[in-house]
Amino acid sequence: MKLLGITGDPLGHSLSPVLHNWAFGETGFAGLYLAWPVPAKNLANFFLAVRTLGIWGGNITIPHKVAAMNFVDKLSSVAKKIGAINTFYWRDELLCGENTDVSGFMKPIGGRNFVHALVFGAGGAARAVVAGLKELGIPKIDIANRSPAKAKILADEFGVCAIPWEERQDLNVDLIVNATSQGMQGAQADSSPYPAEAFAGRHGLVYDLVYNPLETRLLREASRAGWETQNGLRMFVEQAREAFRLWTGVEMPLAGAEDLLKGILGKKRNQQK
Ligand code: NAP
Repeated sequence: MKLLGITGDPLGHSLSPVLHNWAFGETGFAGLYLAWPVPAKNLANFFLAVRTLGIWGGNITIPHKVAAMNFVDKLSSVAKKIGAINTFYWRDELLCGENTDVSGFMKPIGGRNFVHALVFGAGGAARAVVAGLKELGIPKIDIANRSPAKAKILADEFGVCAIPWEERQDLNVDLIVNATSQGMQGAQADSSPYPAEAFAGRHGLVYDLVYNPLETRLLREASRAGWETQNGLRMFVEQAREAFRLWTGVEMPLAGAEDLLKGILGKKRNQQK
């Protein structure tokens, strides 16, 4: 039995254990995936344990995605570009760090042509989004963030533009990506990063990285105005599928994974009502 898991602090909200343990059962891979909450001061000890206990692989989440880069032997080119890892695995006795958020983000929109993308947010998820949009070759990418200095740093790093948060509704874009926590279950559940009236007279796709709830206020208002919508569930599943592939060499079934998580998120929503 191979031991894997996720580390972060706190970890209460993570759906990764249930997803990967389900996938081990589906694929016949003899694995067990645990949740290891570890405070930042103990991250070095955590990686010592990974090396000495023969941990097969795992995921890293907030707040360790940047610091964890210091404890692996090898980083992928994507991880170097993003400056953060969310996955570790072994190859040729080297502990490798990867960032699967980028390919996970791109999966639902790969092969589509967009002319002008607008990204809300400048945190960890926004970094993966901007890297993904660049990779997809979208000609114009703008970033708007509540704290403008952070948008400028991210924009400069990737050679795109930062626009003032107050001007985000003035642009005529065909792809809007929400990489802020607005709309997330909890205190921000009823907030949206975009005024509903700004959708009128325009068309495109709104991609919200939030997946709990599955339909945020942003997506609801975009859909009412005739825009296409994409929630963050597929990205979450795809980043997990790439990590699973790196650990096991086999594919996590996509449709079953989405159904599993939709069921769990639906149940949570009913309990919160
Ligand atoms: P983060 O690093 O903490 O960044 C949060 C971002 O949200 C910052 O840009 C912050 O702006 C902005 N923000 C927070 N509250 C705001 C408000 N009231 N008004 C405007 N902006 C606000 O978090 P993250 O890791 O990037 O995650 C961002 C979102 O993406 C979360 O909802 C997370 O669940 C989602 N996500 C989804 C996936 C997936 O697989 N689908 C993966 C990763 C993340 P400031 O800079 O001004 O604070």
